[in-house]
Order: sequence, then structure tokens, then C-alpha cells
Amino acid sequence: MKRIGVLTSGGDSPGMNPAIRAVVRKAIYHNVEVFGVRYGYQGLMDGNIFQMDLGSVGDIIHRGGTMLFSARSEEFKTDEGQEKAIEQMKKHGIDGLIVIGGDGSFRGAQKLTEKGFPCIGVPGTIDNDIAGTDFTIGFDTALNTVIEAIDRVRDTATSHERTYIIETMGRNAGDLALWAGLSGGAESIIIPEKEEPFTDICDRLVRGHQRGKKHSIIVLAEGVGSAFDFGDRITKETGLETRVTVLGYIQRGGSPTAQDRVLASRLGAKAVELLIEGKEGRMVGIQNNHLVDYDINEILSAKHHINLDMYNLSKQLSI
Ligand code: ADP
Repeated sequence: MKRIGVLTSGGDSPGMNPAIRAVVRKAIYHNVEVFGVRYGYQGLMDGNIFQMDLGSVGDIIHRGGTMLFSARSEEFKTDEGQEKAIEQMKKHGIDGLIVIGGDGSFRGAQKLTEKGFPCIGVPGTIDNDIAGTDFTIGFDTALNTVIEAIDRVRDTATSHERTYIIETMGRNAGDLALWAGLSGGAESIIIPEKEEPFTDICDRLVRGHQRGKKHSIIVLAEGVGSAFDFGDRITKETGLETRVTVLGYIQRGGSPTAQDRVLASRLGAKAVELLIEGKEGRMVGIQNNHLVDYDINEILSAKHHINLDMYNLSKQLSI
């Protein structure tokens, strides 16, 4: 492996920059040249490719977003699009590609690998919805953003007797809501993976209210549905006043936390090692603080699971 490419694809996440930095520096450390691709697979097909050196990734370790920009591309999902991308890489003499992104991006990486072009996936998404890794790059930063928001809502909540519902991102995964709910001391955590009878949620709110609780906080994952609809149902059922905060895109931004920077550095470097070893079609991950790698097909057909112990604990702590 003499020359590798790196791109970020799909939804961006805080920590993609330190991951790019690790790929570039680790490759150069091993005397492998690195080419950056702007705008994900779209940029790959368009030939938006440039050589990177040690200085290209200076001063980015603390920045959110991705210096390589990200994009979504329908054209790349076609055989012609993928062949166009491979042609561009051949033109630049690139013989391996590192894709930093979520599961959609990994499908693309798998397609390229099947067409004979070696790719390695690095999980970068705030959703923490990828199998085979305990954490994805960006999750910890987003989690801390959500907690800060919950703490702020809690401050103002003490002045009013209301039920506050905070909607978090996470697509179909409840990790962000679960971790934020537990660390933010929420009364209820509503996630797609675990359905709790609506009457139980209402009973808990009413019980709290009756024993003099001034306010309640519910964290709801977007995968469950609209927090506004949920708030209306609560009011109808209990008579309690509700206020909704949909956190939205602020969860995707911000300077990556130390955890995310370390994770991004380790996973980015590991991806380079795998390419150098001649591996392909694999995703790097972290499990029990050990770096692991799995066949991308295996990852895509497996399911990420929430930590049920944490879910049950949150219930016990919010009786
Ligand atoms: P994420 O990687 O964050 O899950 P997307 O699902 O939007 O984001 O995927 C990012 C890009 O990956 C898509 O715009 C597309 O170009 C590519 N991609 C997604 N699914 C496939 C697929 N089945 N085959 C080839 N490329 C795909």
C-alpha cells in the first residue's frame, strides 16, 4: 500500500477531524501517501481529491465538523457511480480508502470493496447505532451537549411546575436518550428499543407531582416520534402542563470531547494499520477498551443493542 485516500460521508459528527488527522499522520509515519477526498462519495466521483501532508491536519484536532466536508450521493449508489469513483482513485494512484461515516457510508465502502477496491470503515456518527463497537465517534460529544441542555432546562424548571420533554437525535437508536437521561437524572427515558406502557409513565409523573416534585424531565429519542405529540398525550392523560424542547442540530456540532478525540485517534490509526496489512471490507471499533475489527457485511447485518442494565437502573433511580 503506497497511497491511500480518506473521506467523511453521511451525517457529520464531532471527532471526524481528529480521525482524519490520525489517518493522515499515521499513514505518513509509515511512509504511505495520503489523499483527502472532499464531499464524501460525491467528491470521489467528481475527482475532488488532493494530497495531504502533516501540516494539512494541523490545528483541527479540537474542531467540530469535518475539514473534508461531507455529502450524500444518490448517484454513488449505482454501479456506474461506484465505477466512476474507482476510476478516479486509479487515476490518482490510490490503492486503498478509509471511509469515516455511518452505516450508509459503510454500504458504499462494502460495494467498492466487492468491486476490487479495498476499503476500511471508521464509525463516525452521534447516534451510536453501529454494531461491533461500544462507541461511535461523536457520541460522547453529543451526549455532553444534551446533558448541558438538560441541566439548563432543569435550572429554569425549578421556577415552574411543569413537565419538560427533551427530544434527542439518534435516528432509530435510543443510546443518546438513554445515556443523557441517566446522566441528566430524567424521570422517564423514552426510546424505540424499549416500550414502556404509557400509563406507567403517567403514573410516575403523577406520583412525583403528588409528593411535591416541582418539575419532571422526560428524555425522548426522536426514533419514538414527535415530542410535541407525546407532550399533548401527557397533558390529556394527567392534566399536567408540558413544555417541549427539540434539541436538533446543536447535538451534531461543537468541539469534540477528550473521549471522542482519543477514540477518533485510535480508530483512525487502526484503520491505516489494517490497510497496510492488506485487510479490506472491515470496520474498526472499540469493545471493552480494546480495538477490534469486523467484516463490514457482518456489521451491517447485525443489530446494535442498547445497554438494558442502564435502562433498568434509570427506572430504579427515578421511582
Ligand atoms: P450515514 O453514513 O451517516 O449512515 P447515509 O446513509 O446518508 O449516511 O449514507 C451516506 C452515503 O453513502 C450515501 O449518500 C450514499 O452515497 C452512500 N450509500 C448509502 N447506502 C449505499 C448503498 N446501499 N450502496 C452504495 N452506497 C451507499
